Amino acid sequence: MEIKHLPHDKLNDLFDAIIMSDYTLVGPKEKDGVISYDPIESVDDLPQGIIDHQNPGNYALQKTESSRFFAYTISPFSWKKFLYPPTHSLFKATKNENGISFKVNKDEPKYAFIGVRGCEMTAIAIQDKVFMGGDYIDPSYKKRREQALIVGVECYNTCETCFCDSVGSGPEIPEGSDIVLTEIIEKENHYFLVRSETEKGQNILNQLNLEKADETQSMIKDAQLERVRSQLKRKVKVSGLQSKLKENPNHPRWDEVAERCLACTNCTMVCPTCFCMTVEDINDLDGNTERQRRWDSCFSSEFTYIHGGNTRSSTKAKYRQWLTHKFATWQDQFDSLGCVGCGRCITWCPPGIDITEEVAALSESPDTYHKKESSHG
Ligand code: SF4
Ligand code: SF4
Repeated sequence: MEIKHLPHDKLNDLFDAIIMSDYTLVGPKEKDGVISYDPIESVDDLPQGIIDHQNPGNYALQKTESSRFFAYTISPFSWKKFLYPPTHSLFKATKNENGISFKVNKDEPKYAFIGVRGCEMTAIAIQDKVFMGGDYIDPSYKKRREQALIVGVECYNTCETCFCDSVGSGPEIPEGSDIVLTEIIEKENHYFLVRSETEKGQNILNQLNLEKADETQSMIKDAQLERVRSQLKRKVKVSGLQSKLKENPNHPRWDEVAERCLACTNCTMVCPTCFCMTVEDINDLDGNTERQRRWDSCFSSEFTYIHGGNTRSSTKAKYRQWLTHKFATWQDQFDSLGCVGCGRCITWCPPGIDITEEVAALSESPDTYHKKESSHG
């Protein structure tokens, strides 16, 4: 696809074209001390010049002098809150003089997501497989997903917690988005390189009168991406990991991580691919009921409760289930990893448990691991 040049003061024209096509614009904005993904109206809502610092168990924003709109790396929230909302009404049953009437909500919002990163696009593709790839298709997810417009924005900065490159999910934006933007500032020249990846995206860009980008600008874009890639410090060695995890359910590291883990569920709530859910009936005193689906977590004790007991009652079993699913059994189920290296679970884990450190330790054979530990001790 041809790359076009969009001056920074025309970004609002792109937003207006999207709004005129009946989309609800959702994008990054500073809210409650974090970068949130929320409905926005114009570029004035974007977190201009704000960067995020993320470390195990730590998150902080910093205002800089930069005029960059997308200087931050990644929000604690993921786009899954719009495609697969935390609470979702499945149906309402209302008592009336004729008995009970049922109402299923089939109206789903039509979103345009502004600022989707490479790892986040990969996460959306993973959830597509979960909700639309098998015999049982989630109608709400399908409708929201099919009518969504995805505008990717390539990363300019990385956080200490990112490791997208080693799991093959970034920093470049993979196929699947409709429009891709690269924000570039060269001295006084602030602009975007923009390309469409789908007909839906092209229809939006056709409404703008954009000039073709020159070759030098494309080279700057490639160099920017390579710089971002070189900044990624954390890594996961994926090769051979699936069998190592399956073969070592009694690795001593599981006990050690369980001593630190609070089973608080934070990691699963922020994870863009986790999809555990439960179903609840909300009854009122007039005898009406609403059946709701809401996010659950493999760290919650109720989640695995079946008649007579809980199948994973220890924190060790819960953590082992989560990590093994991400890097081993997810591959059996969906033919991909369940982790895109966004680092959210590292930042938002209260004791700062780092999934990349756990994977590295669990990749060692239990015997070698013991010897190393005892030589330290
Ligand atoms: S497991 Fe952690 S790093 Fe991987 S996708 Fe989920 S939140 Fe991101
Ligand atoms: S966020 Fe950390 S402490 Fe909480 S359940 Fe996940 S690994 Fe355990």
